Amino acid sequence: MNRPLIALTMDQSPATDIRPFSKGVNIYYLNDVYVRHLEKSKCLPLLLPTLKDLSFIPEIIARIDGLLLTGGNDVDPHAYGEEPLGGPWRMDTERTAMEIALIKEAKRQRKPVYGICRGCQMLNVALGGTLYQDIPQQLPNAIQHHSPNKPQWHYHEVSIFTNTLLGNILKTDRLQVTSSHHQAIKDLAPGLRVSATAADGIIEAVEDPQLDFFLGVQWHPEAMENDSSSLAILEAFLSHCRSAKTASLH
Ligand code: MN
Repeated sequence: MNRPLIALTMDQSPATDIRPFSKGVNIYYLNDVYVRHLEKSKCLPLLLPTLKDLSFIPEIIARIDGLLLTGGNDVDPHAYGEEPLGGPWRMDTERTAMEIALIKEAKRQRKPVYGICRGCQMLNVALGGTLYQDIPQQLPNAIQHHSPNKPQWHYHEVSIFTNTLLGNILKTDRLQVTSSHHQAIKDLAPGLRVSATAADGIIEAVEDPQLDFFLGVQWHPEAMENDSSSLAILEAFLSHCRSAKTASLH
């Protein structure tokens, strides 16, 4: 048995949320597509709620074999030195703080990190980069990145760069992806490199070439059913998690 233990971060619905499932209480939740996606591979998924006490983070990172940062509400712009532009979007301040601590600690312990959508943006913010808070407001000429008719998915093409971790995993330079984001990476964090872009130049994937697996994708592989590219990224992530697990046993 060599199943890696993978922690998945969660979204938060505050007690004031008008959505019926909140019922006046604060709830942490995760879209089940992430769980179903991980179940396709041999790993042990574990949901990690948003902790306010960040002193737990080093021990959590030490005990898991990989960290998966899931999508969700907006990153708090204060984390990259900006005031929120405002609008109909929710942001999650506590989750932003915890994920910054998780990412820095995972990098320090060289544990594999995989960021999806908001998770990709978090990798950039945690390492000192910035975001576009709202693509339609700040980049009016950008292509459509957000699904106008959720739960129906919106798709667009991305270009994958060769000689990158992502390029080596996917072995293609073009991919049709699900897109559901209204924010995007603006200034790239020091040490990160871009491994995919959309036709409008929006950054669609980043990675840290100094680490074995530290990858963020702006799209939603978990929602692309049995797409071979999604499974290839997941398998590459889990393969590095297995290696990290084996290394920590010695
Ligand atoms: Mn996109």
